Amino acid sequence: MTTASGTNVDAAEVAKFNAIASRWWDRDGEFKPLHDINPLRVDYIEARSNGLHGKQVVDIGCGGGILSEAMAARGGQVTGIDMAEAALQVARLHLHASGLQVNYQLMAAEQLATQQPGQFDVVTCMELLEHVPDPAALVAACARLVKPGGQVFLSTLNRTAKAYLLAVIGAEYLLRMLPRGTHDYQKFIRPSELGHWLRDSALELRDIRGISYNPLSRRYALGRDIDVNYLVHATRPGA
Ligand code: SAH
Repeated sequence: MTTASGTNVDAAEVAKFNAIASRWWDRDGEFKPLHDINPLRVDYIEARSNGLHGKQVVDIGCGGGILSEAMAARGGQVTGIDMAEAALQVARLHLHASGLQVNYQLMAAEQLATQQPGQFDVVTCMELLEHVPDPAALVAACARLVKPGGQVFLSTLNRTAKAYLLAVIGAEYLLRMLPRGTHDYQKFIRPSELGHWLRDSALELRDIRGISYNPLSRRYALGRDIDVNYLVHATRPGA
């Protein structure tokens, strides 16, 4: 399935992200949860990639560059792509503050996969699958981008009652951490569904880890609870 424009992009979703682009690096703004989980996911990616130093990395749906910069800081040669122009402008500007290097491009994953198939050691696609019309096609694009023997990391929200309560009702309505309408529960993805799409793309599932929030300690941790937000590591066989 693709949208009318023939691309795997939901224009309304991109407009939502463009509208709040100035806040990407506000640690107490809408993107606070992404800042909070960032050290956990970068450590996970680095460990499971056997280091990022000198690796060719592509970060799909990079937004303002929270994850892209962190991977560049660990030595990755990072390309960040997104369909929200305003997010990329913020991401490029922020390189002046951080002194890091990231190659940011306004491009869909499918398009980059046609231009540079099999060129990346590490492909990351975090918190994006639940915002596109055809997530299976996006997983397939990740599979085309990664080198044989390379690593793919994906994260999304599980379609459970608990995720609805915490990620939609809790974060958007009660805590007002995220703008209302940020997440559409119907588009959340069960791990079993993601597992099918990985297999259909000839990727091998290696690990699945929950990202959970402890309201008492106000800390996030990686663990076994995959009911809400979860992170998946897959590999492309061969080398
Ligand atoms: N991956 C980042 C940002 C997640 S927010 C992180 O985890 O820190 C989702 C991002 O996906 C936004 O920047 C939004 O502009 C982007 N996006 C939405 N639809 C997209 C699409 N079809 N292709 C690429 N990026 C998209």
